[in-house]
Amino acid sequence: MAADQSTELEGFMERVKARNPGEPEFLQAVQEVAADIMPFVEANPKYRDAKILERLTEPDRIVSFRVCWQDDKGDVQVNRGFRIQANNAIGPYKGGLRFHPSVTQSVLKFLAFEQIFKNSLTGLPMGGGKGGADFDPKGKSAAEVMRFCQSFMTELYRHVGHDTDVPAGDIGVGGREIGYMFGQYKRITNNFTGVLTGKGLEYGGSEMRPEATGYGAVYFMEDMLHTKGEQIEGKTAVISGSGNVATHAAEKVNHRGGKVLTLSDSAGFIYDPDGIDLEKIEWVKELKNVRRGRISEYAEHFPGAEYHQGKRPWGVAADLALPCATQNEIDLEDAKTLLANGCKAVAEGANMPTSLDGVHAFLEAGVLFGPAKAANAGGVAMSGLEMSQNSARRALSSEELRDLLRSIMDGIHKRCYEAGLQGDGFCNYVKGANIAGFKKVGDAMLAFGV
Ligand code: GLU
Repeated sequence: MAADQSTELEGFMERVKARNPGEPEFLQAVQEVAADIMPFVEANPKYRDAKILERLTEPDRIVSFRVCWQDDKGDVQVNRGFRIQANNAIGPYKGGLRFHPSVTQSVLKFLAFEQIFKNSLTGLPMGGGKGGADFDPKGKSAAEVMRFCQSFMTELYRHVGHDTDVPAGDIGVGGREIGYMFGQYKRITNNFTGVLTGKGLEYGGSEMRPEATGYGAVYFMEDMLHTKGEQIEGKTAVISGSGNVATHAAEKVNHRGGKVLTLSDSAGFIYDPDGIDLEKIEWVKELKNVRRGRISEYAEHFPGAEYHQGKRPWGVAADLALPCATQNEIDLEDAKTLLANGCKAVAEGANMPTSLDGVHAFLEAGVLFGPAKAANAGGVAMSGLEMSQNSARRALSSEELRDLLRSIMDGIHKRCYEAGLQGDGFCNYVKGANIAGFKKVGDAMLAFGV
């Protein structure tokens, strides 16, 4: 970047910082996008003159509300709920709900901001949004989770709708929680609509939605490897997380003939040198979704596997890395360790799992690096297909949806590749995703005027 452009970026970031004090995650996400978009905007003054980037850093609206519920002992509990409606230039606000004690306005603003670009990259008509609460589902009974979800929707329902804002799941929100929230929405409004995605198949959900994020991340990894004439087959992979995204990414790596070495949760990781195969993945799904247990149990169940408490899996040598747990789970040191151990490609299944300096280390080393807004877009893309199936009042088959997901991920890869290819033949997918995602939203905003 030229010197005057970097001063321009600093000035821009100072302004964003001043307007968003105490929001480090949001500022991190803006900084990553702005570094690529500023030079693009300077070269295309129509976006600069209309202040498109500046406008994108201010959400359309932020809704914050109190969520009161009673625990099993009858004690009253109070949480804070949010919905961030970031931008609806190309379609209704769309993005997940996260229930986790780490949820703050900053975390949800970063996620909603990322979602604008991610949703644009899918090629489907979806704007960007995100929501959630600082509720910790861990250790709560099903009845407590139900009461929380109902109370959350009692506030949220007035802000969402199938053509207005369509929430879905994220960390801490899976099929069970979507069911409780959909039931409450229907009860209050007497409307049966596609207001949420990730629904059960019985009431308007889509085949392939649970698989889509993890499968999509592996498809993106595969597309990146193909540009170098390489395949997943015969390669080893380190994966973090053990939820929906991680288990389905692990499944797809197995389908492609790769070997998965690790999975993790917030307490530690398991390393299985024999490989986490399809049968073992089914066991993990049951552990997590039915028994709601911890990944440490894996090492007790499968001899040969090791459990490393309090650690992340990035010290295990592998060809491929798929961070599928949460934000900032790969820092600079982790990135250096992965690179020193011969990691060739990274595809981000979680949102912003790599710190800014970690991303720079991967890009400087010239490895294939698929950023979250491209690599994990398969989930929201399948949500978009759930919305269109709901509108058409028909359901597509798993086979049709798998083919659609594959071609959507190919399209995302192509858009990022074209916008990110440098003169020296290296593709900077981070830059490619930012520019390609920005252009469509920016052009729509220009069409609407100020
Ligand atoms: N939470 C997912 C994401 O980060 C999915 C959102 C959705 O399906 O709306 O993209």
